[in-house]
Amino acid sequence: MDTPNPANATLYQIIPSDVCFSCDVCCRFLEADSPLAPIFTATETENTIAHGADPVLFRPQADGNSAQIQLKPHNDFYICPFFEPETSHCTIYPIRPLDCQLYPFALMLSEDGNAVVLGVDTLCPFGEAYLETETFQKHIRHVINYVESESVTAQIIANWSLIGDYQDTVKIVHPLKLTDATPTPNAQ
Ligand code: SF4
Ligand code: SF4
Repeated sequence: MDTPNPANATLYQIIPSDVCFSCDVCCRFLEADSPLAPIFTATETENTIAHGADPVLFRPQADGNSAQIQLKPHNDFYICPFFEPETSHCTIYPIRPLDCQLYPFALMLSEDGNAVVLGVDTLCPFGEAYLETETFQKHIRHVINYVESESVTAQIIANWSLIGDYQDTVKIVHPLKLTDATPTPNAQ
């Protein structure tokens, strides 16, 4: 997963492709209605439908703009409908949503629900193993700069269902500067 997304050329993935292709964490979920299923912004939803995706797969979210993808059963778990389990490839990789581009980084509420934070999901074996390395710490700064850029901040504010609930597997690395007026899932 180290190919830069042409739509977001400034965000790069630090994890080598071969690591991800031999890992069985991403794109798979334990429940049909997992809250961790990817969120697509309004623009990402339009692009993905224009790319041939079935519109019924996109479940509207409380922010009125974004949508969460409908997972599908696979063996004894569930997968993203754009995931190809035989090859471990994302079939919409060049236009995959910000939510997926960021992983193992996650946008979420702080434990007390009063702040929006950026964290690294320690369920990602690479994230957990390399979090404290100098290279990964440098990458964290890159991701913070990307997420706090004007255009990405605007996307997050307009599609605030991207901000997930607090997860104790996610190590918080930065409190995000969005805006005091940013609505959050707890404000529904
Ligand atoms: S959990 Fe981490 S290493 Fe595994 S596929 Fe996802 S990003 Fe790659
Ligand atoms: S959109 Fe692609 S990267 Fe994201 S969960 Fe689905 S298959 Fe995985």
